[in-house]
Amino acid sequence: MKKVAAVLAVILCFLVFTMDKVEAESGGIKLVINQEVVKPDVSPIIRNGRTLVPIRIISEKLGAKVYWDGKDRTVTIKTFNKNILLKIDQTRTFLNDKEITLDVAATIISNRTMLPLRFVSEALGASVKWDGSTRTVYVNQNVELLDVRYVNVDNEQLIEISGSKPMEFSTLTLTDPDRIVVDIKNCVIKGAKPELKVAQNGIIRIRSGQFQVNPNISRVVIDLERPFDYTVEVSEDGTKLIIKLQVFIDEVEVSNLEDRVKAIIGTSGPVNFVSSVLEDPYRVIIDIPNSVLNTTENVIQLKNRFIKRIRMAQFSVNPNTVRVVFDLKEEVDYSAVAGEKGIEVEFKIKDNIKQISYKSYDKYTKVMIELNSKNEYFIESISHDCIVINLPKIKANKLTDETIHINDGVVKNIHTVQTEEGTGIILNLPYYFKHEEITQSPSKHIAIKIFKTPLLDKLIVIDAGHGGDEPGAISPSGVMEKDLTLDIAKRLNELLKKAGANTFMIREADVTVPYQIRPDIANKLDADLFFSIHINAYYNQTIHGAETLYCPGKGDESKKLAQIVQNNMVEKLGLEDRGIWGRTNLVVLRETKMPAVLAEVGYLTHPKEEKMLLDRDFRQRVAEVLCESIIEYYADE
Ligand code: ZN
Repeated sequence: MKKVAAVLAVILCFLVFTMDKVEAESGGIKLVINQEVVKPDVSPIIRNGRTLVPIRIISEKLGAKVYWDGKDRTVTIKTFNKNILLKIDQTRTFLNDKEITLDVAATIISNRTMLPLRFVSEALGASVKWDGSTRTVYVNQNVELLDVRYVNVDNEQLIEISGSKPMEFSTLTLTDPDRIVVDIKNCVIKGAKPELKVAQNGIIRIRSGQFQVNPNISRVVIDLERPFDYTVEVSEDGTKLIIKLQVFIDEVEVSNLEDRVKAIIGTSGPVNFVSSVLEDPYRVIIDIPNSVLNTTENVIQLKNRFIKRIRMAQFSVNPNTVRVVFDLKEEVDYSAVAGEKGIEVEFKIKDNIKQISYKSYDKYTKVMIELNSKNEYFIESISHDCIVINLPKIKANKLTDETIHINDGVVKNIHTVQTEEGTGIILNLPYYFKHEEITQSPSKHIAIKIFKTPLLDKLIVIDAGHGGDEPGAISPSGVMEKDLTLDIAKRLNELLKKAGANTFMIREADVTVPYQIRPDIANKLDADLFFSIHINAYYNQTIHGAETLYCPGKGDESKKLAQIVQNNMVEKLGLEDRGIWGRTNLVVLRETKMPAVLAEVGYLTHPKEEKMLLDRDFRQRVAEVLCESIIEYYADE
C-alpha cells in the first residue's frame, strides 16, 4: 500500500476595496461579488463615504465565518488565518490582534448588523472595482492561474503552479489511469497552458483547465505512467504550489557473483542518492531523497558472504528520505551506481594486506605476504640494505602499520609505507646479497626468499701489496704497484663490508709493513681468509694477463679460492689466463693459518694493462670481481 502524504495549505484570498467617491445615498448601489450580482435583503448604505453591507453578504459570499456576540456587541470574522474583531459603533477594531482605526464603524440599522465592506474586503484581500457610471461595486476574490511548469533537476521532479495570489487548494490521487489532481478554489485560468507535454520519468503530461465556474475552481491534472507519491510545498507568500514527485523504493535483490555481491535497491524511477560508510560495526548506508518506502519487509536477514542483513526505513518524512543500511560482516570495498532497475550496490573483498609473516632458514629467510585477493606486485632491491615489495593496487591498512622486527641476520625488520600508487613493503636488511621470488605476480600469497650473505660473520684480511719503502713493480712511465694495490684494496674493503663481511686491512696508507708481520696479524685476528692484491711486472713488455697464487700443502681451500678468483679475472675482467700457481716461497701465503690467495691483477709493464689499471673504473671493476669471487667461494661452502 502506498501512503499519501500531502500537505494541505488553505489560503484564502482577500479583498481590497478602493472606492474613492461613494455618494452618501442609500440604495441604488449594485453589488457584484465574484461575477455574481448580489441582491441583499437590506440595501447597502453609504456612510462617511464608506459602503456598509449586511453581515450575511460577508458570510455567504466571501466564505468567511461570522460570529455575533449580542452581549458584547461584537462581530468576529474568521478565516483560517484571519481574525477580524469589530465592535458596534466603534472605529477601533482588531485584525489578527493588531489594532486598526476605521473611517466608519460597524453599526446596527433596523435591527441589522451592517459591516464596512471596504475594510472587511481589504482584510480578506479581494480585488475591488468601483464603476461610477453604473454605480456598481465589483468584489473579486478570484486567483488567476498564471503558470504551470515541470522542473527536473538531478532526478528531483517537481511541478510548479503559480497564481496571482495565495491559493486555496486540495489534492487528489486517482488511478486507471494514474494521475494527481490539484483543485484550486476561486481560481480562473489566465496564462497557464491547457496542456504541457512532459513525456519523461513517468510523467506523461500536465493539463490545466477551468473545472467549475461559480464558484470557480481551476484544476491541474498530472497524467502519470505509474503511481507516484508526492508532497506539496507552498511558497512563503502563498502564490506558488510546488508538487514534488516521490519515487517508491521497493525490495532489495541480492545476487552472488564470482568475486562480488550485487544488491539492487528497486526504485520506481530515477533517483538521487548519497552513500556513506560507518564503522563498528562496518555498514554501508544509502540515503534516497524524495522517496517513499514501498515494502513492508524492513529487515532482511541474509546468509551472504559479506552482508549480514539489510535494513530499510523511511528515515525522514517531508522531506521524504528512505535509508537503506547494509550491515556487513567485514570491511569491504563497495560501489553504488544508478542502474536500470534501481541503485546497484556492489561489495567486494577489500584489497588489503591480511598478514605479513616470515620464517628463518639456514641460508635464507622466507617472507610471506598474504593478501585478501590476488594482486599484482613487483620487487625492487633499491639499495644494498633494502628490498621493496610494491603492491600498486593495495592500500595499507591498520594491520601493517607496525614494524615487524626480525633481526635474524638476513632481515632486520619489515615495515609498510603508503605510496602514491599503493603500498610498499620495505624489508630492511643488514646487507643485500640476493633474493629469489617464489611466487609470480599476480598472487594472493606472495613469497620471497632473501638469502643470507655467505660473508656473514667472516673476517677477511685484505693485504695491499708492498707500501712505503717498497714500491713493488714500477712501470716504464713510473707508475708504482704499491699505489694501485692500495687503491684496489680500499675498494674491495668497502664492497666486502657492504656484503656483510668483517674486514681488516693490513695497510690503509702508503706505509711499510714487513712481510713476516702480515701473516702474524691475520693469525692473531683468527681471520677466516687472507687476500693479497698485487700487480705483476716483467722485463718483456709483451707479457700480460692475470694469475693467482696459493700455497700448496695448506689444504684444498686456498687452491679452490685461487681457481675461482682466476676464473673470474679472466671471464669478467677479460684478462689473459696465466693460470693459478702453487707457491711455497711466499710468506703471506705459507704462514697464514687460514685459506690465503694472492691475485696478480695484470702487468704494469704491459702498456695496455698499465693504461687499464690507471683507470679508476677498471680498478673498481677489479675490486668488484674480487669481492664476487670471495662470495662465490663461501656460497659454495
Ligand atoms: Zn707485488
